Amino acid sequence: MNLFTTLFLISLGASIIVQWFLVQRHINHIRSNRQQVPEAFNGKIPLEAHHKAADYTQAKVKSGMVELIIGSLFLLIWTLAGGLQLLDNWWRSLGLSEILTGTGFILSIFAIMAILDLPMSIYRTFKIEQSFGFNKMTPKLFITDLLKNTVIGLLIGTPLLLLVLWIMENSGSYWWIYVWGTWLSFSLFMMWAYPAFIAPLFNKFRPLENAELKTRIENLLTRNGFKSQGIFVMDGSTRSSHGNAYFTGLGANKRIVFFDTLIEELSYDEIEAVLAHELGHFKCNHIRKRISVLGSVFLIGLALLGWLINEPWFYNGLGVEQVSNYMALILFVMVSPAFTFFLQPLFSFISRQHEFEGDDFAAGQAQTENLITALVSLYRENANTLTPDPLYSAFHDSHPPAPIRIAHLKSKFA
Ligand SMILES: [Zn+2]
Repeated sequence: MNLFTTLFLISLGASIIVQWFLVQRHINHIRSNRQQVPEAFNGKIPLEAHHKAADYTQAKVKSGMVELIIGSLFLLIWTLAGGLQLLDNWWRSLGLSEILTGTGFILSIFAIMAILDLPMSIYRTFKIEQSFGFNKMTPKLFITDLLKNTVIGLLIGTPLLLLVLWIMENSGSYWWIYVWGTWLSFSLFMMWAYPAFIAPLFNKFRPLENAELKTRIENLLTRNGFKSQGIFVMDGSTRSSHGNAYFTGLGANKRIVFFDTLIEELSYDEIEAVLAHELGHFKCNHIRKRISVLGSVFLIGLALLGWLINEPWFYNGLGVEQVSNYMALILFVMVSPAFTFFLQPLFSFISRQHEFEGDDFAAGQAQTENLITALVSLYRENANTLTPDPLYSAFHDSHPPAPIRIAHLKSKFA
């Protein structure tokens, strides 16, 4: 056992302990607030809905904890217990070229991981979501989605993997800069292509039809110089009764998508307010900022890998004897979450700041009261807890909890 093994185990152990501690706090906090709807929501959220949100949240975080423990065990089996080395030996025995061996090796790891995740995924959909009345997915649709995802993943992932491994083998010690460039171009391409070519394979998107609503929305968009393919309504109700709205795409393919479940839930005024929030993300350049942050993190990560790839202790410390480019790549992908977990509060913080900025923008464009009532329905329909533990929330929440978000809106604009 070398020093790096010790470091890895300490970091993995610490991240599990911290997450365990946060989950316990979260559950206790929710339980102790279960009996009463927070004052600001009196009359807006019935006690029944508050109970449901508490129970649903607890069920989700508990199963998340089980997944974390199982995932960590698998990680140890892959690395220290020699799983990766065993699989690598098998691929090498086939006598293929280095790049083909690496591609087959990495794809087979993803396949095995997907199969191992399947029971949990079934449990999440058909047990948790089902028992709280959110699941609309049939077993048939579940299987079709799985097959589609596999085919698309293979079609896109295989050439990308071949290219990355080829670059690693043929472009000298600065390979990581070229891989970074490839990754960045690929991500931007996918952001552009996803809404137009991939999302429609899973969902139906129709342009918003209602004439009155459409005019109001188009006014809002032109007022803000937003050129897009417009507003789309997605049949989210085929899979789940959760509602949402999101901003997607790049360049000419950018669009705002409303779930049909949300459209049914909200008034025109509220829809306009939610749209203004999404537009706020665009106006405040949040997508560009997110790409910059992510791009920098990836560049640092790959530079680090550029160094690690030549250090035998990196492989040996993680249960691998045979050194190779593809092994370095997969080790890095598997192991880095144990180290980067502690950056999560920072990323969650940035994301929550962006949500506040989106809300500020929306409040300047539409009636603040409409955004507030829309948020209340959104949180109620999705059974999001109104009383998360503050520390848990700081770590995990990409969106501010409802009470904080609404208080923020009220303090600024009421
Ligand atoms: Zn937002």
